[in-house]
Amino acid sequence: MSQPKIVVLGAGYAGLKTVKQLQKKNINAEIILVNKNDYHYESTQLHEVAAGTEPASKITFKVTDVLDSKKVTFIQDTVSLVKKDEKKVVLEKQGELSYDYLVIALGFESETFGIPGVNDFSKPLVNIKTAEECKKHLDETLANYQTTKNDADLSIVVCGAGFTSIEYLGEITNRIPKLASQLGFPQDKVKITCIEAMPTLLPMFSEKLGSYGIDVLKKRGVEFKVGTPIKEIKENTVVYEENGELKEINANTIIWTTGVKGSSVIGESGFSERRGRVMVESDLTVAEHPEIFMIGDVSAVMDNESGRPFPTTAQIALKQGESVADNLEAKLAGRPSEPFSFKPLGTVASIGNNVGIGNVMGKEVKGYIGSIMKKNIINKSLLEVGSTKTLLKKGRFDYYH
Ligand SMILES: Cc1cc2nc3c(=O)[nH]c(=O)nc-3n(C[C@H](O)[C@H](O)[C@H](O)COP(=O)(O)OP(=O)(O)OC[C@H]3O[C@@H](n4cnc5c(N)ncnc54)[C@H](O)[C@@H]3O)c2cc1C
Repeated sequence: MSQPKIVVLGAGYAGLKTVKQLQKKNINAEIILVNKNDYHYESTQLHEVAAGTEPASKITFKVTDVLDSKKVTFIQDTVSLVKKDEKKVVLEKQGELSYDYLVIALGFESETFGIPGVNDFSKPLVNIKTAEECKKHLDETLANYQTTKNDADLSIVVCGAGFTSIEYLGEITNRIPKLASQLGFPQDKVKITCIEAMPTLLPMFSEKLGSYGIDVLKKRGVEFKVGTPIKEIKENTVVYEENGELKEINANTIIWTTGVKGSSVIGESGFSERRGRVMVESDLTVAEHPEIFMIGDVSAVMDNESGRPFPTTAQIALKQGESVADNLEAKLAGRPSEPFSFKPLGTVASIGNNVGIGNVMGKEVKGYIGSIMKKNIINKSLLEVGSTKTLLKKGRFDYYH
């Protein structure tokens, strides 16, 4: 009898963790992992590449470095569709791939909220390619000032003040003094504006902790506009609403970090979704499709304590990967699957290289200690999808290089 075929889509935190767990188990199944690139990237560190404080090589490794080739086949291709009723996946280059069990872990994309001009005139921060584009654009634009003397070359607008925006601001405010002496532009003329539609900043932290983080950025020269929704992005201009009036800021660098949605493949494949996310069953399968698991940023998991879905994070994606591997093992053995349970361990945001703020297991941390906690957390995540060798190879114990 032929072996059942498990196909995992996406080698991010959720997909790679699933496969790493599966290959540890003694299961009789063919395992196939499909990913767009031949590398895994740590999405949680994209802001460092975008700001130019770390190269892409520091946060990427080859997927095959952590796969057991005797147990897992890796296919590098882009998934364009899931034909759930035919149990097939359509790949851009290699055509159709059938499955018995499917794990969809295709991750996130930039969310424009339908605001005009976002795709044309701002830079999203969602993968290695876009992060490298952000860095190249920032470096070139700041360097241009030498010849243009155009103030807009030194004006940077960060759209949104969520987690990604704050971490990106932390990195660029660390790097700009070095860039100023390297490229010869006047540092005091650099204008960094962060525009947020919501009335409060960093609502996931206590007011005191959030203010501490924001004050660090303000002291480094960031101006925050809060309760000011962005209405349009035009070429080198951000249009926003303040006190009922439309206003504009000129900036030759506009970074779009207002939020993310799940992969567009989910909606295009006819799953019942909201912003690319499917509300999954308690065992992380899709309703009426017990053979399909949906995890990571394409899934929404209800937090029964708050009555709202858990925020999509790398932390939950890793736990989901573990649970799916256990449930696949159970299904193959004819046992019922177990419900997924999750207790968040906390959240820490970095504000550049040596400041962090967050909650860890019910305790607030900030400053240098916060930064150490953050570095430990990302190293732990890297260990879960990579290996000790990956950590050593990437020099990740050298915290303050
Ligand atoms: C700057 C930033 C900072 C963050 N900080 C934190 C943090 O501190 N803590 C935390 O817990 N979370 C954080 N997050 C959120 C976290 O990164 C995501 O929740 C997490 O990456 C989701 O994991 P995933 O496996 O679902 O998706 P991803 O990490 O997005 O992985 C998806 C994978 O699928 C591949 N893929 C996508 N589309 C296709 C396709 N069509 N075909 C084939 N392959 C495809 C991608 O190349 C990628 O390898 C941060 C996010 C950002 C952007």
